[in-house]
Amino acid sequence: MSTNKSEAVPFWESKTLAQMTREEWESLCDGCAKCCLHKFIDDETTDEVTEFLPTDHMAEDEQMVYSSIACFLLNDKTCQCSQYQKRTSLVPDCVRLTQDNLDDVFFMPPSCTYRRLNEGRGMPSWHPLLHKGKKSAMHKAGMSVRGKVVKDDQVSLDDFEDYIVLWPLDDID
Ligand code: SF4
Ligand code: SF4
Repeated sequence: MSTNKSEAVPFWESKTLAQMTREEWESLCDGCAKCCLHKFIDDETTDEVTEFLPTDHMAEDEQMVYSSIACFLLNDKTCQCSQYQKRTSLVPDCVRLTQDNLDDVFFMPPSCTYRRLNEGRGMPSWHPLLHKGKKSAMHKAGMSVRGKVVKDDQVSLDDFEDYIVLWPLDDID
């Protein structure tokens, strides 16, 4: 009796991110919404406060600092964008990771499934694709933003330092 090995291997193990179909790529998003948090790059070599401007690179001596302040369009219970189709026009800073801008994956938190796969760390055990599409394992593992955020239309971003948190950097497996 012969078995078809390729059928048994999930696409995220048999293909690179670049080889995936659009549908496969989209399905990899775990829906954690950590990428909807406001974050800043901290340059440890200076105490100078520079303007909070968008950037497309990070130097070696810089690190990402996350806040618990989420985009106002985020549904913080479902961890879904309430305006997914219009998000990039409504929120110009909204980062949409695609196969064409994979170089931007370093902007994503360590637990982001795209970043994990890109860095060869594999699919996390809590991913919805391994739980019939349900997000409950992810929420239970503390890997989503549910129950941990305030919206950016409820606080002043000038108070960013009061909202700095470490949990977005957590990863397990
Ligand atoms: S951090 Fe990555 S996996 Fe999580 S919602 Fe954002 S793009 Fe999707
Ligand atoms: S527009 Fe939607 S996807 Fe983009 S950061 Fe805001 S909530 Fe997240």
